[in-house]
Order: sequence, then structure tokens, then C-alpha cells
Amino acid sequence: TLSRMLATKQPSIGRYAGKPDPTTGKYKVSFIEGDGVGPEISKSVKRIFAAADVPVEFESCEVKPLLVNGVTAISEEAQKSINTNLVALKGPLATPVGKGHRSMNLTLRKTFGLFANLRPAKSIEGFKTIYGDVDLVLIRENTEGEYAGIEHAIVPGVVQSIKLITREASERVIRYAYEYARVSGRPRLVVVHKSTIQRLADGLFVRVAKEMAPEFPDVKLETELIDNTVLNVVQDPSSYSDAVSVCPNLYGDILSDLNSGLCAGSLGLTPSGNIGHKVSIFEAVHGSAPDIAGQNKANPTALLLSSVMMLNHMGLHKYADQIEKAVLTTIAAGPDTRTGDLRGSASTSSFTDAVIKRL
Ligand code: NAD
Repeated sequence: TLSRMLATKQPSIGRYAGKPDPTTGKYKVSFIEGDGVGPEISKSVKRIFAAADVPVEFESCEVKPLLVNGVTAISEEAQKSINTNLVALKGPLATPVGKGHRSMNLTLRKTFGLFANLRPAKSIEGFKTIYGDVDLVLIRENTEGEYAGIEHAIVPGVVQSIKLITREASERVIRYAYEYARVSGRPRLVVVHKSTIQRLADGLFVRVAKEMAPEFPDVKLETELIDNTVLNVVQDPSSYSDAVSVCPNLYGDILSDLNSGLCAGSLGLTPSGNIGHKVSIFEAVHGSAPDIAGQNKANPTALLLSSVMMLNHMGLHKYADQIEKAVLTTIAAGPDTRTGDLRGSASTSSFTDAVIKRL
């Protein structure tokens, strides 16, 4: 099940160190509801957590963009909440195109050092897509590569955009991927790269993975050119069901969306985790869906499954299993309980009611 995306044992890096409040017995989690459909899908998560008696108390956390010396930043209050609670659940945040503040998503990753983006993509039973048996786990380096933001015009008409790969960032994400493969019982680690062209940059990424291999004799290391991976995944995604893939930032961004598209059939279904050494933030992969915001139409599943990953990360497996099962059986029950993106007729709130009945 998806619950085992973060297995009972935790990787040693990025491990959750939070404790429940001694008086309430509840764990505190920062909740960034986000923009557009964010508040609607957040309400669904809160209702389901309350109905399942999950020992979690959400602390509302706004991450309105601030400009500090021309740089996009997060308020001190939000930073304090997330740094104290060590874990956050996040709805989508809209980014203005071409002007205004920079992406808050990028800012969150930088501020909290969220070095690994964990993106499972698993078919949902009872909802038919092209392939019925997709079960992929991709880990994307989340802090550098083309996203380092180093770009300049050398002369008019010539722009240089720098891809940054460091040993330090490569080591931590690859170590996380090895450990993740180990604890989730997937025997293969596939490093996806293009070191035939990016010889130094991707070459370093691959070399780090090879150097670390002796520490993980139970995980078989494979390296694969990104173009081959794309072809293989499209032709037969099930050939990666026993693997964890890890790759530099931009490849991971693109490949993870391909994986989601192949398996899920809707953006409304795909969860993710952003893992840091101290703090981790779990979020739906989709954006703020302005076209359906405020209409009680959004599918809350992606945020719900992100909350399932979060509960597993926190060691609350029983609640994770319970919520995951209720969500999946609700989707499998048919079009009456599915939202419009899954060719169903349910609203956000009637889908939520149906999940609560199945808890
Ligand atoms: P989007 O994901 O918001 O929407 C794409 C399509 O998918 C739309 O038709 C939308 O209705 C549908 N969709 C998305 N989520 C859905 C859900 N839960 N249920 C049903 N249908 C759903 O992508 P976009 O329109 O390109 O982006 C809108 C805004 O979101 C932009 O400002 C973008 O920067 C931002 N964004 C944020 C994040 C994030 O916070 N992680 C991710 C992607 C985009």
C-alpha cells in the first residue's frame, strides 16, 4: 500500500524527531492551507482527521510572501511554527508568472533545507487508467541543478544558465534514496542521469552513487540514461515496481510528472513529501486549480494521501493505514463517490462524507 511509501522503519536521515504534547497527547503539525482550492481540500483533511481521532493538532500557518532586501522570504512566525513542529502539511501556493515574488514553494525548500522530494506514483484500484499496475517511487534532488537560479545574459541575445551539482547535495539525496530503498523493501536503486552529455555534473552525481554502493550491499545499484528511462517507463512501468529511482532536480521534476500521469490519471491524486534533515513538508503535487476554486469540486485525495505519507513519517502508521484505506475504497466504490476529475459526480464535501463513512 501507499502507507508503506514510508515504511515502518525510517531512513536515518530526514527522520522525524517530534514528540506528542505531554498534556494533550497530540502531535502538533503546521498546516499551510494555501491558495485557490487549498482551503476546501484542507477542510476535507481536517474533517477526516477529526473523524478518525488522529492524535494530531493542526497549527494554522500562513506563508504570505515577504520581500527582505529584494529576496522572497517567509515570515518569522511561519518559520517558528514549522521549525518547532518539525512537520507541515501544505496546500498549493500560487506563483505569479514573470513578476512579483519568487515561488514560495522554492523558498520553502531553501529555507528549510528540504533536500529530497519524494514522489510515489501508484495506480488506484478500481479507477481504470492506461496501465493498471503502476507502483513507482522517484526521489528528486530538491535544492540545486537548474533550480539554483544562476542565470545571466553574457551579451545581448546570449544567456548562460548554470546547472549546479555539488558532492554534498548529491550525497545526502542519494544516501536518503539508498536508505529509502532499503526500508521500503525495494531491492534496486536506479540513478537516472545524462552523464554522456553533462559529463562533469551528472558524472559527479553518478560517481557519488557508485562510491556509496559498498555501504548498501542489499540494494542493487543501476545507472540509466534519462532518455532510456522515459522510454522504459512509458512502455512498461511495472518494470520499476521493485525499484527506487533517484535523479538530479530537473530530470526529477519532469519524470515524476510523467510517472503521475501514467499511473493516476488525475493530478488530483498525487501526493509528495519534501524531506529535510530537521523539517519535512508534505504536499499535494497539483497547483491551486484557480479554474475550479471555491466551487466545492476539487478532489482532496492528493492532499489526503500526502497526509497519509506524513502520518507514516511521524510513525502514526495505524491512522495512516485507516485513512488510506477509506480514501481508496471510496474511489473504488464508483462514480457516485468520485469527484469530477475522476469522471464522477461527487463534490469535495460529499466525497469527504463518503470517506468518513468508511473509516
Ligand atoms: P493546477 O495543478 O492548479 O491545475 C491544472 C489542472 O488540474 C486544472 O484544470 C485544475 O482544475 C486541475 N486540478 C488540479 N488540482 C485538482 C484537484 N485537486 N481536483 C481536481 N482537479 C484539479 O496547475 P496550474 O493551473 O498550472 O497552476 C495554478 C497555480 O498553482 C499557479 O500559480 C502555479 O504556480 C501554482 N502551483 C503550485 C504548486 C504547489 O504549490 N506545489 C504546484 C503547481 C502549481
